[in-house]
Amino acid sequence: MDRRESLKLTAGLGLGLGLYPFNLGEQSSDKKLGIALVGLGSYATAMLAPALKDASHCYLAGIVSGTPEKRAKWKIDHQLKDENIYDYEHFDELASNKDIDIVYIVLPNSMHAEYTIRALEAGKHVICEKPMGMNADECRKMIAARDKSGKKLQIGYRLYYEPHHLLAHEIGKEKRLGKFLMAETSLAFRMGRPNWWRMDPVMGGGGALMDLGVYNIQAARRMAAELPSAVTAQAYVFDKNLYKGIYETYMFQLLYPSGAVSNTTCSFNAYVDRAHASYERGWVTLQPASNGGEKVVMTSGSENIKIPPPITGLQQTAQMDAFARNILEDTAVSASGEEGLTDMIIIDAIKRAIKSGRIEDIVYGL
Ligand code: NAD
Repeated sequence: MDRRESLKLTAGLGLGLGLYPFNLGEQSSDKKLGIALVGLGSYATAMLAPALKDASHCYLAGIVSGTPEKRAKWKIDHQLKDENIYDYEHFDELASNKDIDIVYIVLPNSMHAEYTIRALEAGKHVICEKPMGMNADECRKMIAARDKSGKKLQIGYRLYYEPHHLLAHEIGKEKRLGKFLMAETSLAFRMGRPNWWRMDPVMGGGGALMDLGVYNIQAARRMAAELPSAVTAQAYVFDKNLYKGIYETYMFQLLYPSGAVSNTTCSFNAYVDRAHASYERGWVTLQPASNGGEKVVMTSGSENIKIPPPITGLQQTAQMDAFARNILEDTAVSASGEEGLTDMIIIDAIKRAIKSGRIEDIVYGL
């Protein structure tokens, strides 16, 4: 049975039992929410637009782009209405567009906070790409804007909806292999575009740490099912002509109150994509851990652990459908602003540890 059939069956069963989850008073059960993608770069083009074609609870209703050629092409490719196509000068006019329920911010990191807050002020639900902001204080402002607007906010953490990552989190949370002891979570790829905003300290906010480290932090803390309370960190740059104002490779160790530790390498100058956690009675490895595509989940001591089959389709479909359902059913968002803030609090502490060369405490709070 494919995912779509399985969703239909689940919905059908729910109806039969009188358990259909949608709020039928306000929304019709087959209503699909309209999404506007903001920033038509590589991720929006290669992943989000294709993922929306398969979505059950949302669809691509509009776009925001500063490039006239892109607007013209997307209009034809996705059969968009003229009135749902915006440039940045007219972004705030989204407020009066009834076709757009959700605004999805897919811009460079330094633009996330501003556009998320403006979209919330325009009365829209928002998905904001990772990392949530440039630092924890920006994330706190975004959460305050969400609360003021009464709308929902999701961070583009697609792996919060991926079955193998969910299983790994559950193994840690339920202590199915005993107490968490240590983890190694790493992600790196070779950056082929020296002038890309990801290489710019102002727009990217810190190279591979901001771009990739966020996945490593999540994998570690979710497999640990515990938040780290302190960190040590190191960072290196060898090619000073290429890496200006950012490091090439970041390494950090998160220390957990239970006595466990996790170690991470994230880099723009190597290839690795793995998350491994060790427990008292076994271990779990996810590989590839963060890139899309089929997951390899290996466990030792795994007789009682049933590994889900590889998912068909794009992870982003599940992520966006889950958010649409959160809105339609008025349920809590799993990849919430608070989750984004938690990662940024940890990243801020890693940056402090790189500077100080000492163990830095991680202090959480809104
Ligand atoms: P990209 O450079 O391909 O796209 C960025 C888009 O922003 C471009 O269309 C660009 O024209 C537009 N833009 C608007 N104003 C800009 C400005 N002032 N400067 C530069 N660009 C401007 O980048 P991308 O890879 O699509 O990444 C976009 C966001 O999506 C980032 O925050 C990134 O972290 C996130 N992302 C997430 C995932 C994931 O798996 N969740 C994967 C890739 C990217």
